[in-house]
Parts: sequence; C-alpha cells; structure tokens
Amino acid sequence: MTVFDDLVGQDQAVAVLSRAAAAAGEVVAGGRGAGMTHAWLFTGPPGAGREDAARAFAAALLCPDAGCGHCDQCHQVLIGSHPDLEAVRPEGLSYSVKQTRELILRAAGAPTQGRWRVILFEDADRATESAANALLKAIEEPPPRTVWLLCSPAPDDLMITIRSRCRLITLTTPGTEAVAQVLAARDGVPWETAAFAARAAQGHIGRARALALDDAARQRREAVLGIPRSLTGVGECVSAAERLVKTAEEEAAAATAALNDNETTELRRIYGEGSTGKGLNRGLVRGGAGALKELEDRQKSRATRIKRDSLDAALLELVSFYRDVLAVQFGAGVELANDDLRFDLDQLAKKSTPEETLRRIDAIMQCRERLAANVNPQIAVEAMMLALR
Ligand SMILES: [Zn+2]
Repeated sequence: MTVFDDLVGQDQAVAVLSRAAAAAGEVVAGGRGAGMTHAWLFTGPPGAGREDAARAFAAALLCPDAGCGHCDQCHQVLIGSHPDLEAVRPEGLSYSVKQTRELILRAAGAPTQGRWRVILFEDADRATESAANALLKAIEEPPPRTVWLLCSPAPDDLMITIRSRCRLITLTTPGTEAVAQVLAARDGVPWETAAFAARAAQGHIGRARALALDDAARQRREAVLGIPRSLTGVGECVSAAERLVKTAEEEAAAATAALNDNETTELRRIYGEGSTGKGLNRGLVRGGAGALKELEDRQKSRATRIKRDSLDAALLELVSFYRDVLAVQFGAGVELANDDLRFDLDQLAKKSTPEETLRRIDAIMQCRERLAANVNPQIAVEAMMLALR
C-alpha cells in the first residue's frame, strides 16, 4: 500500500510523482536528486482529484519511505495535521494579497522535521492579480527545502510566468468502472449503488462517494433532476428557481455552520473571553473585537463562495440531464449519466428537438456565467428556468 493508491485511474501522474518523491528522498539524504522540483501544478477537470493527488505527493515528500501510507508522517499529512504541510484555500472568493503574503512568510521557514516544507495551494486560479505576483516571487526564489503544490482546473488559469516555473501534473477524469470499483472495494458500497453513484457523478470521485453514502445528497440530486419535468408554466419556473437557490443556501449553511462555530470559539478563547483574570473579565481584551469582526467578514465571504459552488454543482447536474436528452435524440449509444431517469429522458427527447436541447444547455451555461459575474442568483436562475421551459 502507498499514499498513491487512492488516485483512481491516474497511473501516469502517479508514476511521475513516485519518481519525484524518490528523488526528493535523495536530496534529503544529501544527494543530487535529479527530477525534484520546487513548484508543481496539479491540473485536471473538477473531481479528477487534484487536491487528493497533491496531498498524496505531500505525504510522499514528508514520509521517510516515500509515501508508505501507514507511518505517522503519512497519517498526519492525510488527516491534515502535519506541521510541515500547510494546505490553504482562498478565504473568500479569492486569495487576497494579504493572505498570500502571510503564507509566503510561513513557507520560508525551515521544515520542523528536517525533510521539506510543503505548501498546498488549492484553487490557485482564485489568486487576485497582486496575490499572484507575490506568489510568483516566492516561486522564483524558493528556500532550499520549500515545495509549492498549486492546484487549478487548467494550466491556462494561471499567469504564464507562474505556470512556466511549475512542473505540470495533468489528472484525467477516471472512468465510471474504476470509480465504482473504488467505492465497492474501499467504502464497502454494494455494487449496484456503487455503479449508479459512479455513473451519476461522471468520474467525480468525491461526488460519487457522497451519492453512494449520503441520503441527503441523493435527495438533493433527485430534487434538481426533477426540475425539467416540473417546468410547465411561468409560475412553476419562478418557484423552481426559488427552490434551487434555497437548496444551495441550506447546503452552504450546513457546511459553514460547524466551521464558523469552531473558529469563533477559538478566537474568543485567544482574546480572553471567559477568562476570570483581572481586566479580562469584561469580555474581549483590546483588539479582540476587531479580530472578531475580521473573522466574521471572512466567514461571510466563505459562505458566499460555498453557496455559489453548491448552486454551480446543481447547474452542472442539470447540464448532464440535458446532455443525456441530446444523446437519446441523436441515438448515440453512449453511457447516460442519469440512466436511472430513463423515462424522463425519453419523454423529453421525444417532445423536443436537438436544437431546443442545445438551446437549453446554452441557457444553463449562460446562467453559470452570470452567477460568476455576481448577478443576483434568484434573477439569473429565474431567467434560466424560463429558457428551459
Ligand atoms: Zn509513510
């Protein structure tokens, strides 16, 4: 077993990363370590497992045995508590220059355990221009034992100056069969459920796992995919839009609530609330209120991002539905993501033309663009529903 075992269908990337981890081990031992690089860029479509691959590579760098998968180092990396691994996500919709500078300072420190200091920069495409410039400087002159692992959907999402300094690891969408096998073998999911979840998630392993194991995720999917057949009139379109936006909000609220509570409690503890010492018993010490306000702002902007991501995921689900309709209309013998809804697909395929289906897919894509451009969700989604009718 190694830390790379979970990377389903990524044999080529795993081969490169394993060689690099071995080279990194040579460097630690005082050798030359040809093939080791200080900046890596992990790209691939959503769900291909960019972050998982980067994390596995981090474990391989920090493990004395190039990623054995069972030592303390490996374990700490995988659960996110290794002192030499810093995994960061954008705090709000993007990385600010402040967040990036702080990170660069921390990245410059020597590794506490003598191997590497690894910075895992998720969603690197969300760095603002000034943050990206700060990042570029750090990557250009890395401290001898610092390794940057950047993740983004496509290489083009990053400035060419950053991209050209990174070694590229390209991940691909794993096949349905491979995903189903992992769910069955590692998560103990019954084969039929595993096959359904893998197909519905179209190679997105995290999504497949959620569909296989989480009833609420399955119910949300059903609600989203029930939308096309419910759009019989203008009133139905408006209420479908309301439902979709509300579901995304609820999903985001559930995901953020737990995170927020922990952070706020921790901050209050640091600033002395609850302490009975003299001078501290009147609530937060000086600076505490400001820090709390700053935390609340960050939490608000993170909630916005999660809400947007969850709405976008629902829209992609709708796209997959209409793509299936198109496949039926063209009689293409391809695997349908939503084969479990075969009746709905056939109905709509008969009732409409391929041109209409393409127009509907366009309407969803346009809605995604509008949401990305900060148009009010209710307005954007309503316009889309009317176009889908
Ligand atoms: Zn290990």
